[in-house]
Amino acid sequence: MKEYSYKECHLCGRDCGVDRTKEIAFCGQSDTLRMAWAGLHFGEEPPVTGSGGSGTLFFSGCTLGCPFCQNWQISRNGMGRDISTEEFVEICRGLQNRGAENLNLVTPSHFIPSLVELLPLLKRERIDLPIVWNSSGQEDPGALDMLMDSIDIFLPDLKTLDPRVAREIYHFESYPTIADAALKRMIASRPLELDDRGVMKRGVLLRHLILPGEMESSRQILEWFAQNGKDRALLSLMSQYTPVPTVDFPDLKPDRYLAENEYEKVLEWLQLYDLEDGYIQELVTGNDWLPDFNDPSPFSSELSKPLWHWKEGYL
Ligand code: SF4
Repeated sequence: MKEYSYKECHLCGRDCGVDRTKEIAFCGQSDTLRMAWAGLHFGEEPPVTGSGGSGTLFFSGCTLGCPFCQNWQISRNGMGRDISTEEFVEICRGLQNRGAENLNLVTPSHFIPSLVELLPLLKRERIDLPIVWNSSGQEDPGALDMLMDSIDIFLPDLKTLDPRVAREIYHFESYPTIADAALKRMIASRPLELDDRGVMKRGVLLRHLILPGEMESSRQILEWFAQNGKDRALLSLMSQYTPVPTVDFPDLKPDRYLAENEYEKVLEWLQLYDLEDGYIQELVTGNDWLPDFNDPSPFSSELSKPLWHWKEGYL
């Protein structure tokens, strides 16, 4: 029988089995909640952003560790600082007071044991915004069970269903099997519920980042969504792949932006699979938007209103 605690960690598909009170494994994090930034974000999809902005909380560490991660400072290098229960509650209260539509937990999977204790506490503190689980969709089924009472909106990023792409680009061959099961479970458990402004109250919004040169992988995802998510969940396609090599991955692959003909191919497939209820980002071919989490305002001022930063505290 698997344990779902920090003492013997099987929270995600990496299945390390380590004692995180003593040892650091793939996700790079101990048993203490660690965060880098919180604030209102206006760059999420319209049903998540609404008019008030999404109350985003960026956690340090990551269970997947994509080589091209735009947030590599916090996801791979562990930038951020440990936070107490009181501080977490006050950050969430601050987001609610500033008009956030929801509390959007970004890359939270490795902190499930802490969050399943903290999220019910928020309700008792009259912080009652919808909770968004913004992950790479590779939680272990038992860990996903732990979350089911606390999460209103699942926002998983389905990376690929192709084991070759999973191995060569994401360095994690079993990702497709784990994500397939997790996402089917999320969709089955959270029927879509929007308010009269079109803002999500419950449900699943599935994201997919299109990888340059790996179009068949994206086609498979659209086919999967047509079979498993159409009319039950929303779809969001992202074209923002940005080839920024880092010290860990100096020969980053893919090494280019998405091409216009690739983008158009995806639009054709959306028609082929009759997928109309969703979002597709305009073609992105520049890195001006890349965040720097050393800065209390890592995103542009049109896109965000900072509330808390790991170095500066409340802003
Ligand atoms: S959360 Fe995942 S990557 Fe981190 S220690 Fe647990 S099983 Fe390993």
